[in-house]
Amino acid sequence: MSHGRLSAEAIVALDRQHVWHPYQPNDVWRDGPTPPVIRSASGVWITLDDGRRVIDGFGSWWVGLLGHGHARVRDAVHRQLDVMAHVPIAGVVHEESAALAARLAALAPAGLERVFFSDNGSTAVEVAIRAAFQFWRQNGRPERTRFVSLEGAYHGDTIGAVSVGGIGLFHEVYAELCFETVQVPSPSGEPDWSAAFEAMEQLLRAQSDTIAAVIVEPLVQGAGGMRMYAPEYLRRLRAICDELDVFLIADEVFVGLGRTGRLFACEHAGISPDFLCLSKGLSGGLFPFAATLTTQRIYNGFGGDPTRTFFYGHSYCGNPLGCAAAHAVLDTIELDDVLGNVALRAEQLRDWLASMAAVSGVRAARQCGLIGAVELSDEAGYLAGAGRVVAARALERGVWLRPLGDVIYLVPALTITHEEMTLLLERVGDAVRSAL
Ligand SMILES: *Cc1c(COP(=O)(O)O)cnc(C)c1O
Repeated sequence: MSHGRLSAEAIVALDRQHVWHPYQPNDVWRDGPTPPVIRSASGVWITLDDGRRVIDGFGSWWVGLLGHGHARVRDAVHRQLDVMAHVPIAGVVHEESAALAARLAALAPAGLERVFFSDNGSTAVEVAIRAAFQFWRQNGRPERTRFVSLEGAYHGDTIGAVSVGGIGLFHEVYAELCFETVQVPSPSGEPDWSAAFEAMEQLLRAQSDTIAAVIVEPLVQGAGGMRMYAPEYLRRLRAICDELDVFLIADEVFVGLGRTGRLFACEHAGISPDFLCLSKGLSGGLFPFAATLTTQRIYNGFGGDPTRTFFYGHSYCGNPLGCAAAHAVLDTIELDDVLGNVALRAEQLRDWLASMAAVSGVRAARQCGLIGAVELSDEAGYLAGAGRVVAARALERGVWLRPLGDVIYLVPALTITHEEMTLLLERVGDAVRSAL
């Protein structure tokens, strides 16, 4: 069956010859089984070339907040496309970005009143890192140059974002290219978060004079294996950062906008960070778009004379299409009670995870909002085989997954229905059981 201009075989042949895929071992790609060819996507469903429809179980790498081609988001982008596709906010202003900035500031935790627009999660983080560094440099504390991050952290793939990353396999190769950071134990580790907090507190008390900011993924370390930790850790971290006047960067690129059951993950802890990074679902998963929210205090630290300017920007900053999509995403979250749906679907997920935890060969099962993870084994890490076997079995059963090593996780659209969720959980449960 051919829906497009090229046959599936022709597409795979061209791809094998010319496309370099992300995080994809070359040999597996060249010599392995023929990859599925995707023809279209709608809601939680992906349609393959052979006509089969499979459920997108990982939200297209976590960007698919409202499912594919959500009608309200699509309409908003179509309308905006007819008016103005792109003008960067370089010395000019437009309604789309001004109104979105105001809206994000109103929704975000208190005090985050300034919005810097960029175009993906890594740049949203890069903005925060550079603004924090430059703020101290030109506001009386130039020795505050270092960043503290957590073991197992993932903040994106630019060199700046990799510098604050903590996943050995992904990040070690680039160590010599990166700036030095201080890494502390993750609160998601054993036995609980309090020992990790003590390590963080000790470090900050001893070295805050040289530290610009602490960066964390609030509640869930995503790419590190969907590792989760208690909101209390964030509360305590905020308190110590306040006491020592160290900035706190909350990277909500993955967890933001309803994924955890609240609009922002920081809300679970009742805290306001000094920087809050958003991307992925911000554009409803249509295209890259990002925002870094910060405080008036930090913004004011860049005034006074032109040499104090934040010398940073990207070609597509404030992209009106992205702004239109983001408005429609926020409309949808409000008008369609998306958080209400997350609460209901999270109950289904909770019951399923409890049943999975009892399967022999499952090491752990954990959840935060509409993120569910089943950890199969502890031994071989990211490159181990069990996760890949489960993914292959899941695809046979009609679900598209992309495990992180031996961590099978589900990150469906927040708009997934009861029936779709039931189907997703049945199929993945079946795939896990068949593989163990
Ligand atoms: C995905 C991710 C990023 C990077 O986003 P990109 O758009 O892929 O650059 C940054 N931080 C977190 C927590 C992420 O999950």
